[in-house]
Amino acid sequence: MKPSLYFAADEKDVDQLKAEYTIRKKFGFKMDYLSASAVKKKYHFEAPGAILSQLGGQTNAYLLAHCLLQYCKGRGVQIFDHTPANSIRHTAKDVTVTVSRGVKITAKKLVYATGYEAVNFIDKKIVKLESTYACISEQANEKTRFWKEEALMWNTAQPYFYMRTTDDNRMLIGGRDSKFYDPVRRDRLLKQKIRDLVKDFNKIFPAIEFKPEFSWAGTFGSTEDGLPFIGEFPKLPNSLFALGFGGNGITFSLIAAEMITALVTGKPSKDASIFSFDRV
Ligand SMILES: Cc1cc2nc3c(=O)[nH]c(=O)nc-3n(C[C@H](O)[C@H](O)[C@H](O)COP(=O)(O)OP(=O)(O)OC[C@H]3O[C@@H](n4cnc5c(N)ncnc54)[C@H](O)[C@@H]3O)c2cc1C
Repeated sequence: MKPSLYFAADEKDVDQLKAEYTIRKKFGFKMDYLSASAVKKKYHFEAPGAILSQLGGQTNAYLLAHCLLQYCKGRGVQIFDHTPANSIRHTAKDVTVTVSRGVKITAKKLVYATGYEAVNFIDKKIVKLESTYACISEQANEKTRFWKEEALMWNTAQPYFYMRTTDDNRMLIGGRDSKFYDPVRRDRLLKQKIRDLVKDFNKIFPAIEFKPEFSWAGTFGSTEDGLPFIGEFPKLPNSLFALGFGGNGITFSLIAAEMITALVTGKPSKDASIFSFDRV
C-alpha cells in the first residue's frame, strides 16, 4: 500500500480535479483535497491542487504474475509458455484453438485475455492504440528516500506524467505518449522522449538528480469512454473477453476475472451492460 497523489498539472485543471474529488467522496472513497499550499507543505513541490488517497497500491507485476501462475499450478492448472494461439474456430457447441506445432485444444468456452492483440479478433473499433515511454533511474543507496512517503504520483496533463519508486531504490517516470502505434517510429523517438521525461521530472523536483539507467516504450490502449470491454462477443460463440484497456487496466482485470467466473458458472452479472461490446 502507498499513498497516491493525483495533482493538477495546471491551474486550469483545478475545477476538473475538484469535480473528481466530489464524485469520489460521494461514492465513499477516503481521500483529502490538498490546496497548492498544502501540496507545497506536505510534498515539497508546486502544484495548484491535488487529491491525496491512502488507498493506492503498487506491485511488481512480473513477480505477481509468476506467483499467480505458481499458485494456479499448485491447483492443477497446466501452463504453456511461448505457445501462441495461431487460429481459433468457434462453433455453437465449443471452441477449438490451434497452437504452435499444430496442437489443437477444444473447450466449451474460451477466455480471450490477449491484451491489445484482441483487436485481431474483433471487427469493431474498440480501442485507440498509442505509444508510451518510461524510464527508470540508477539505483540509490538503501537509506535514500526520494520524496515524501514515496507516494504514487500522477498528474492531470494529457497525456499524464507519472512518478514511482521501486523496492530496489530507483525512481520510475513515464508518460509523453505519442498518438500513434507504429513500434519502429515509436522506438526511434525513445532517446528524445526520455530526455523530455527527465526535464518534466526536474520541473517538479529540481533538487533530485534523475540519472536514467533503463528506458523502454510500449503500446497503450484506451477506449472512448475510459472503460474496459468484458464479457461475450456474440459474433464469436462461446467466447469471453477480458480486455482491461487503459491506465486502470489492472483494476479492470480483477473486475473481468470476477465477471467472467460468474458468466461461466451461469450467474447473471448486473454490471454486464457497463462493459459490453454493444457500447460501440
Ligand atoms: C507503461 C504502462 C504503464 C501502465 N501503468 C498502469 C498502472 O499504473 N495501473 C494500471 O492499472 N494499469 C497500468 N497499465 C495498463 C495495464 O498494464 C494493462 O491494462 C494490463 O496489463 C492489461 O492486462 P491484460 O492481462 O488484459 O493484457 P496483457 O498484460 O497485455 O497480457 C496479454 C497477454 O496475452 C499474450 N498474447 C497475445 N496474443 C496471444 C496469442 N495469439 N497467443 C498466446 N498469447 C497471446 C501476450 O503475450 C500477453 O502476455 C499500464 C500500461 C503501460 C503500457
